[in-house]
Amino acid sequence: MGTAIQKKVRQFSATYLIKTVSECFEKIPDHRPNKCIIPFANFPKSAFAMMHQKCDSLLAFDEERLDEVCCHNLEKLYHIKDGIVPSDTRMREVVDPLDPAEHKTPFKKLLNIVQRNGALKGFEFKCGKLKDHYLLPVDGTGLFYSGTCRCDDCCIMNEGKKNEAYYHNILGGCIVHPKQKTVLPLAPEAICKQDGTKKNDCEKAAIRRFLAQVKHDHPQIKLVILLDGLETVVKVTDH
Ligand SMILES: [Zn+2]
Repeated sequence: MGTAIQKKVRQFSATYLIKTVSECFEKIPDHRPNKCIIPFANFPKSAFAMMHQKCDSLLAFDEERLDEVCCHNLEKLYHIKDGIVPSDTRMREVVDPLDPAEHKTPFKKLLNIVQRNGALKGFEFKCGKLKDHYLLPVDGTGLFYSGTCRCDDCCIMNEGKKNEAYYHNILGGCIVHPKQKTVLPLAPEAICKQDGTKKNDCEKAAIRRFLAQVKHDHPQIKLVILLDGLETVVKVTDH
């Protein structure tokens, strides 16, 4: 991958990659009933900037938006129109109802850039007769857990009991290679509360959606799916 990156510096620069992600956010439909001063795309762009800068919290990022220089930089770096960054409250109100599927496009576009510029070749895994294949480890991970705070989409643990708790899990997968330091993440799949109450059931249901999405987005890439003991019962022969 290193050589390909050196040859195609512009396509792999942070500026180009952030611009690609920003353009995807421009295409998310505005679900707000009334016209608002803040352009809709500024919400997902601001949320992305917050995560990309690894801000400690929404509140920490909220303080930045009051700083003129920070706003100028956010406009220039993350294409946040006129540097208008929404408050943490408005950000929650507008971003929370978005379908998580709206955030999958940037993952697809970024992998397409890697593929188009020949850098994916560096991840090709060869072992015996296995050629032209890529390794895709997949596993579930926790995003949120609380004994008190919840939303309508939270999965529920110990329902109806004294120690009832709320959580969100996600299933993620990256294309990896033993000799590459970089990994190529694919769009993760949220584990929904309808997926079941047992960890095993939840991950099995989510992985079916995850693999269907991968196949839809990247039909030409031959993958070897690497799973832990929980998910190995899932039939993956389609890949
Ligand atoms: Zn929730």
